[in-house]
Amino acid sequence: MTEQAIPAEHGVGASPGIAVGPVVAITTEEVELDTIDDPHAAIEASSANVSAQLAALSASTRESGREEAADVLNAQSLIAEDEMIVDAVMENVESGLDINSAFDAAATQLEALLASLPDPYLAARAADVGEVMQAIKRDLAGVATGETVLAEPSVLIAHELTAAETAGLDPEMVLGFATETGGATSHVAIIARSLGVPAVVGVPNLLASAPSNAALDGSTGEFFGDPTDEVAADFANRADAQAALQTRLDAVRGSRASFGDIAIDVAANVAGADDIHRAVAEQSDGVGLFRTEFLFLDTPKPPTEDEQFEAYKLAASSWDVDTVVVRTFDIGGDKPAEYLELPEEENPFLGQRGVRIYEQFPELIDGQIRAALRASAFGKIALMIPMVATLEEFSMVRSRVDSVRAELDGAGVDMGSVELGVMVEVPSIAMTAMSFAPHVDFFSIGTNDLTQYTMAADRMMSSLSQLHDPLHPAVLGLCKLVADAGGAHGRSVSVCGLAASDPVAAVIFASIGITKLSVSANAVNLIKATIAAQDPSIADRVLEVITTATSAAEVREALEPLVVRP
Ligand code: PEP
Ligand code: MG
Repeated sequence: MTEQAIPAEHGVGASPGIAVGPVVAITTEEVELDTIDDPHAAIEASSANVSAQLAALSASTRESGREEAADVLNAQSLIAEDEMIVDAVMENVESGLDINSAFDAAATQLEALLASLPDPYLAARAADVGEVMQAIKRDLAGVATGETVLAEPSVLIAHELTAAETAGLDPEMVLGFATETGGATSHVAIIARSLGVPAVVGVPNLLASAPSNAALDGSTGEFFGDPTDEVAADFANRADAQAALQTRLDAVRGSRASFGDIAIDVAANVAGADDIHRAVAEQSDGVGLFRTEFLFLDTPKPPTEDEQFEAYKLAASSWDVDTVVVRTFDIGGDKPAEYLELPEEENPFLGQRGVRIYEQFPELIDGQIRAALRASAFGKIALMIPMVATLEEFSMVRSRVDSVRAELDGAGVDMGSVELGVMVEVPSIAMTAMSFAPHVDFFSIGTNDLTQYTMAADRMMSSLSQLHDPLHPAVLGLCKLVADAGGAHGRSVSVCGLAASDPVAAVIFASIGITKLSVSANAVNLIKATIAAQDPSIADRVLEVITTATSAAEVREALEPLVVRP
């Protein structure tokens, strides 16, 4: 490895893309508050100003279709107008602190208070309170939180950027940015992705090194301050290669992929409105997995039937001919919802999760089914059930769907026909797929969990990632059992786990008779282009390899060189 190949600093890739250019450092000086005559009234006025500014920014962000970023700003706007802020500062003032110390102490107290709460939704608001209180303090001091006006396209560096500052960046002028704080799931990362601005967060010593030029890669997390010519050229080449690949992917956008003469649908996995917009932009063949549980998580109470109806209707009406597969909520395992008060478990992935909790929460599951059936009047919807291990569980949901449909029919509600499929995540379903097939409308293989349960390897443990490999012949063998059962009974079989986004795995799935792949929106055209580039005769070799190999590494080694890259 050459010296230049070692990044000067390594952060966390927060928003993909390459940026090379001159640096502008954003430094936010500490503001000091002077004595204020009527602090209570002044804080209230500044809180109202900041709340209004954040609400306006949230509205314009929402108008440009960036829902997730708008939600962050809206939450901050609500925090700004919350009485708890003025109360906390005044309490400190009354206990004898000067206004400046009272304000800083209140910010620390409120952040600590929220961070300590057991409710993860409220705990996650701790960082928001800090940002909002800084903004209020600046308003009180009469310091404008001015926009950064750039003379030329630049790379920004900062200790920290707030959600509002990030949302206000001009993607035409900001080539990319790096911050010393933040993680891949922080608000700045979410907003940077929504703006399409490359970003690296968590880079140590960024400001101290005061570079005048920088090169960063928002996928790998590499950041070079004052890169050598060689590094700058390497990054420019990477950017060119990405742009050239993008041109080839743009060429297949909107096309239908086929493997020989077999049509392969490439649908998108979505979790909410932003993903739906991204999938529409990539022209996916519908949605193969709507992870609806995200509507139920990180919130103090479950979504209402009407809120769900709006979400499913938005998805269904976004595609003309393709289906949106709504997965009923898969709560439990790594996705707990505090308000359900499910007991702590020793092995949550083997416990009360997905379909296993439906009979305990009948209003919740029936409400979801009702919302999905109502939305089916606005586009093609299918339902699928997660974590099914037995036919009894599947039949229980089938009869709930039937009775909700009868009830809605009775009330004269318009509905389309809605297929009901099963997710294949538990090996028992794959192994009995032939006898299961007559009872289901379709199968969708969740390779993330199917691999976890086949290999007995916790999907959350990075130290087990070698074992948790969906290309293990045991997992692929189960996938083939399902594909064969689907073929024999005329039931479609898809893969919606992460493996479908891997070009080599996608070609394996097409080779064993799987006709639909559901992938993250940004992989839709990569997978379409990959499938289209193959000579279907590769299927013979795939079948030979997966039935004779003894490890995932062997499968990868044998097939990787044969898969044609777009
Ligand atoms: C899967 O298990 O592969 C799947 C698609 O579901 P999730 O990742 O949401 O558990
Ligand atoms: Mg799963």
